[in-house]
Parts: sequence; C-alpha cells; structure tokens
Amino acid sequence: MQKQLNLVLFGPPGAGKGTQSEKIIERYNLTHISTGDLFRKHLGQKTALGLEAQRYMDHGKLVPDQIVIGMVEDKIKSTKNTNGFIFDGFPRTVPQAEALDELLQSVHQSISLMISLEVPEKELKQRLRNRAKVSGRTDDQDDAKIQTRIEEYREKTVPVATYYDNLDKLVIINGVGQIDEIFGNICNVLDPLNEMV
Ligand code: AMP
Repeated sequence: MQKQLNLVLFGPPGAGKGTQSEKIIERYNLTHISTGDLFRKHLGQKTALGLEAQRYMDHGKLVPDQIVIGMVEDKIKSTKNTNGFIFDGFPRTVPQAEALDELLQSVHQSISLMISLEVPEKELKQRLRNRAKVSGRTDDQDDAKIQTRIEEYREKTVPVATYYDNLDKLVIINGVGQIDEIFGNICNVLDPLNEMV
C-alpha cells in the first residue's frame, strides 16, 4: 500500500489553521478533516451527533473524545484513494492522538508530521474578535467563550504537542506574518517529506 502524507495542523483557536490548511490541501492534494467543520455540518443538518456536540460547543468546551473519535473514524474509513489527510482541529487531547495512531495503524498508515502554528495570546484574541464579524460563529462572538476555548486549549490540547514531540514529529512554525510567508515556511518543511512518500 502507498504511504500517505498525513499531517496534523496544530495551534490555538485563531492561529490560522483553516487558512493554511486550504493552501496545504491544494498543493499536496490532501483530504481535509476538520472536526470543527464536521460538527458544524452535523449541527446544520440537526443530526443527533450535531445536537449532542452543540451542548459543548456553545460553551467553548471540548466535545467528549468518544464522539469526536467515532466521527473521524467514519470519515477516514469512507475516504478512498487519497494522497493523505490533513487533520485540522484534531487531535485535541492525548487520548484522541492515541486513538488516531491506532486508527491509522489499522489501515497501515501513520502520522507523518505535526505542524504547530505559534501565535501570541493577545494577537489570537484580536483575530477571533475580527473573525466574529464575518464568520457568523456564535463561539467567536463573546469574550467569555473565547477565553474558555483558550483555556481548554492550554489544559487539554497543549499536551498533544508534547505527544508528537516525543515521537520526533513536531515542527513549530511562526504563525505571525503574511499568509504566503507562513505558507512558504510550511512548504519548506513539507516539500522534502512529500518527495519521500
Ligand atoms: P474549531 O472549529 O476547530 O474551533 O472547533 C469548534 C468547536 O468544536 C470547539 O470549540 C469544540 O467545542 C468542538 N471541537 C472541534 N474539534 C474538536 C475536537 N477534536 N475535540 C473536541 N471538541 C472539538
């Protein structure tokens, strides 16, 4: 079986994961798995999963691991013939990262790399407030929800970077600057890797 390029795009809310993942997908021809987008889609269709997730999302809290992992498993297993996946907003806890490793192992694949976008907290809050004006996302609208999301990130998600660092799979990229400049720095890391798969 052909080895895939499987990436985890990591960073706090507002780090630019959505923007950079679009560019990465186009260049490397990857399948996007954004758990936030998948939840919003479920919510729009008022599925049971969407309504369950909404109870957490509305407060800026993380959705429980079993729900997230089940949804990602369905998406991976229903995707045929891909060059690889870009996971955006997932894994957000260490148990999610462990479950992802097991899942990929079961299809003879693995995570190639985690790219972590670093942005100072003050800038993140500013970006989220700006995004609120155009995104229509209720969780971008109020400062208390933004604060909870950043706290959830610090408490539960930051250890995920250590998890991949211990596997020698963590690359840190400065997420402040021009979009194309940041993308260029990401390509410098991914181009050689893409030639190897
Ligand atoms: P995002 O669009 O990635 O900012 O996600 C929006 C919301 O969806 C988050 O604040 C969480 O409530 C939920 N969510 C998205 N991805 C995950 C995940 N991997 N684990 C738990 N909750 C998630």
